[in-house]
Amino acid sequence: MSSFSYLYRKTVSERAFDMKSLWESTVRIPKRRSAEGLYERDVVVIGAGMTGILTAWQLQKAGKRVAVLEAGRIAGGQTGRTTAKITSQHGMIYSRLLREVGQKKAQLYAEANQRAISEYEHIIKKNGIDCDFERLPAYLYSTSDRTGLCSEAAAASALGIIAHEAEIHELPFVAVGAVCFEDQAQFNPLKFIRALAAKLEIYENSPVKSVGSQIVCTDRARFLTKSVVFATHYPLKDIPGFYFLRQHQERSYVVALKNCEPLHGIYYSVDAAGLSLRSAGDILLLGGNSHRTGESRKGGAFGSLKAAACKFYPKAEIVHMWAAQDCMPHDGIPLIGRYSLWHPNWYVATGYGKWGMTSSMVAALLLTDMITGKRNPWENLFSPRRIRPESARENFRRDMKESVRGLWTGLTRGKEKCRCGEGEFRARCTHMGCKLVWNPHEKTWECPCHGSRFDGAGRLLDGPAQKSLSSGPDNKNGDKYK
Ligand SMILES: Cc1cc2nc3c(=O)[nH]c(=O)nc-3n(C[C@H](O)[C@H](O)[C@H](O)COP(=O)(O)OP(=O)(O)OC[C@H]3O[C@@H](n4cnc5c(N)ncnc54)[C@H](O)[C@@H]3O)c2cc1C
Repeated sequence: MSSFSYLYRKTVSERAFDMKSLWESTVRIPKRRSAEGLYERDVVVIGAGMTGILTAWQLQKAGKRVAVLEAGRIAGGQTGRTTAKITSQHGMIYSRLLREVGQKKAQLYAEANQRAISEYEHIIKKNGIDCDFERLPAYLYSTSDRTGLCSEAAAASALGIIAHEAEIHELPFVAVGAVCFEDQAQFNPLKFIRALAAKLEIYENSPVKSVGSQIVCTDRARFLTKSVVFATHYPLKDIPGFYFLRQHQERSYVVALKNCEPLHGIYYSVDAAGLSLRSAGDILLLGGNSHRTGESRKGGAFGSLKAAACKFYPKAEIVHMWAAQDCMPHDGIPLIGRYSLWHPNWYVATGYGKWGMTSSMVAALLLTDMITGKRNPWENLFSPRRIRPESARENFRRDMKESVRGLWTGLTRGKEKCRCGEGEFRARCTHMGCKLVWNPHEKTWECPCHGSRFDGAGRLLDGPAQKSLSSGPDNKNGDKYK
């Protein structure tokens, strides 16, 4: 045992974990019935995560009759496991956007995300929602290299964000540089969603099995509709759209600590193995350790976070641990808009790059304008059909290589049966047949090409796959909130 992990065992106490997030463990969202029969609605939204709920909310406000179909439980996908910082500070994005897409588009990106923060505040205040929403500064920091932070501050402030270089005093380690964005926010995402969901027509345990140009079907229901919004995190239809060629998925990890001084800002590191921090009442959330889904690392995905907790917060107790994943688009800009040329009434929102709180609000506002026929200046910037800069092509090539390798090993070695987890499976993903990899830390099967995940019994956990490995019934998030 390394001296570090010995220290960890001695000082940071923890109890058994069910891998539910702080929010999932403390907020109960009332159950909804499944869809059954024939319905007619103006818009069907597929997926009841933050994107689906906000989009349905905005569309309903605009006078549309909307139904939301959710495969499992409301917010049972990635939204239940977010760290819920509501910020337009998305890493070093503004200096990059200025370089790659120019001043006009960079400005639109900043405006859209700043507008998203105010829209959350507006909804929360207007509807008296108790969801621990608070405004506070966001800090982008480095413990090793301040190069770039200065130009990020200048870029953001040139685009209208109140941003400046800053010193950080409340973290238990030294940051050599930081950029502060004033007036950002954080909240409890499930308390917020519970309040909105209460006013929406939502069907749970209703996985969508097929989508036509004006019809959406589950096993037991058919919805005739004018427009369809795919808010499924990873778009569920590969063709048309080809979203599996436009993004990959990354997992990251969170530990929640008790007995720490509360922070007065939200923090995100630009360093390779840096930490993300925020407080939620008397709990501190420590996040990080991202990697491509399916490439789980030796030592356990939570290992370095636990070690950091031990080093920086020696009196702390770990009270929750969880992981989640998000879609990483090749050019770092979310894909929001028309699903494809072939289906002008299908809409999609994906590729949030781990900034899905503001991005899902941007999606809700933009898609509502598109569906109700209003012009929106953000349309071209987020359009899934946009032309990508050179840097995106490099990411595309890398993802293609991964996909071809996964498909090839799936074809040549995927017939082997593997005994891991609770059964014996053909370790081929039900999405495109890529070879799956066993993750011993989370006890899951994972696809390194597109990021689908299955539990030890072969049940589907995360898409793009839509079917379990086993012949048993799909259990898409169905048992997350018992
Ligand atoms: C560790 C971590 C921390 C993060 N922290 C932050 C943060 O601090 N701030 C921030 O802005 N972003 C953060 N993010 C990103 C953010 O959490 C996500 O981008 C966001 O939650 C995605 O929401 P969504 O609604 O698009 O997807 P989801 O919440 O996954 O919702 C999609 C829903 O669609 C359903 N679905 C799928 N297939 C079907 C089907 N066939 N039929 C019906 N329903 C279906 C799923 O069951 C699911 O409920 C974080 C991400 C990670 C990984």
